[in-house]
Amino acid sequence: MSEEKSLNFIEEIVEEHLKEGKYKSILTRFPPEPNGYLHIGHAKSICLNFGLGIKYNGKTNLRFDDTNPVTEDTEYVDSIKEDIQWLGFNWANEFYASDYFDTLYEYAVKLIKKGLAYVDDSTAEEIAAQKGTPTQPGTRNKYAERIVAENLQLFADMKAGKYKDGEKVLRAKIDMADPNMHMRDPILYRIKHAHHHRTGDKWCIYPMYDFAHGQSDSIENITHSICTLEFIPHRPLYDWCIEKLEIFPSKQYEFARLNLTYTVMSKRKLLQLVNENHVSGWDDPRMPTISGLRRRGYTPESIRDFCDRIGVAKRDNLIDVSLLEFCVREHLNKVALRRMVVFDPLKITITNYPEASETLTSENNPEDPNGGVREIPFSKEILIEKDDFMENPPKKYFRLAPGQMVRLKSAYIIKCDEVIKDAAGNVTELKCSYIPESKSGSDTSGIHVKGTLHWVNAADAVKVEVREYDRLFKTEDPSSEEGDFKDYINTNSLNIVTGYAEPSILDAYDKDRFQFLRKGYYSLDKDSTKEKIIFNRTVTLKDTWAKEVKKA
Ligand code: ATP
Ligand code: MG
Repeated sequence: MSEEKSLNFIEEIVEEHLKEGKYKSILTRFPPEPNGYLHIGHAKSICLNFGLGIKYNGKTNLRFDDTNPVTEDTEYVDSIKEDIQWLGFNWANEFYASDYFDTLYEYAVKLIKKGLAYVDDSTAEEIAAQKGTPTQPGTRNKYAERIVAENLQLFADMKAGKYKDGEKVLRAKIDMADPNMHMRDPILYRIKHAHHHRTGDKWCIYPMYDFAHGQSDSIENITHSICTLEFIPHRPLYDWCIEKLEIFPSKQYEFARLNLTYTVMSKRKLLQLVNENHVSGWDDPRMPTISGLRRRGYTPESIRDFCDRIGVAKRDNLIDVSLLEFCVREHLNKVALRRMVVFDPLKITITNYPEASETLTSENNPEDPNGGVREIPFSKEILIEKDDFMENPPKKYFRLAPGQMVRLKSAYIIKCDEVIKDAAGNVTELKCSYIPESKSGSDTSGIHVKGTLHWVNAADAVKVEVREYDRLFKTEDPSSEEGDFKDYINTNSLNIVTGYAEPSILDAYDKDRFQFLRKGYYSLDKDSTKEKIIFNRTVTLKDTWAKEVKKA
């Protein structure tokens, strides 16, 4: 991060706290619930939390917020760890909220003993009805009158498994008239006879988010607990629990969650896309998940750059997905290996070229002085893109046309002499001649042409499968549209085409990133094999973001 860049509002708070000596060092945490794969919104939170730790010489914990046994799974735990590391961050400690279940139980007992919590036998419906409305105070029921000893016994019985799911809950005794609904005797513990992925069958009562999150922060001595705006109304309860329990005063700070155009960003919705086979899995390259973006060919650098560029907002907004595409294009331009791939081939015969082929070289990346070169075979039969030729071109058409010259990238200047057609009138081949003195790198021809085409040698072109992706949704903000978000799925978001690649593509390695000249950026898919090479198109070369910015 550059020095001159102005601080975001959370950095301002942290710097103030360090300056006034409130904390000697800071400790943040990233607290995912292991109920799905991480998405680009989580990347924002990861970059923010780990970024603060790095910038201010503090630390960041990874804490799995695993208090809901039903939806959680170790598959998700593993994927979350992989994704954070891939993004380039290391946690100081790996913790699990479930490790604190004993302590949290003791905390609940402490509140009961202070007369600040009671066991309630009401049904969920009754509790909801008694809650009141934002404009009308709620009412307390008779269970709130229970004495401490009775509450202690009942809570122990809840833990011991004497009751069925939903028969009883533990509630905090705060204020049924508080304008903040979360303060109206919120539920702290519920009964759930469910197997937990870490604690097994030890527990049949589980703490609610509000009785686990802040306390976990406090147990770990988290100084700055950063979450998204929807938790603002939870903050008074966060502070209340910590105050009444007299534990380390962690503090909560809220920022706006990331929303992206043409995307949904909730794990629940992403899970639906996976379960209902709208995509091939959590790592489908069309998914906004970290694993999907990785498979698509995104680099960690580009995602971190994106998170940096969007900044830390205090108000919800919708970020244009073309900014994300802009960031990956910027990075790939610097690191991607250039290769030539023809998608819709038209055969060219160079009539004055000798029978034997030759080996030319071309730079791997003009942006990278140490990028080196690769070898490309050249012979009298090559392939170009069909749409790089026009029989009757308009003015200022600099590609190939009858009588017109172009340069073949890293090779020679050729001239189109004759157009061969089939019976139906379709162009099937071009007969061209080449200028021997025009070889790239040692051109003495003195001829200047405006167009340069990519091409491949016909004899050893390698057939590859290319998966081209479009946006997964047809509308900018599918979650805010009427009806089901799935009604707005773009059913044409995957297009599979064949490409004819130069032979060096056979050396492609899983971590390589490629620019197919004049086309876009591509990376090998995990389904790719030696026999069947498969590429994902990460992004096209066309930048819609810079254009938008210019217009604005
Ligand atoms: P989802 O609604 O997608 O399920 P979540 O908030 O329930 O997300 P968690 O696993 O609880 O997911 O989130 C872990 C952390 O990531 C939390 O601190 C949460 O605030 C943050 N986070 C989740 N989604 C976003 C987002 N879109 N933008 C920024 N931060 C996010
Ligand atoms: Mg959550």
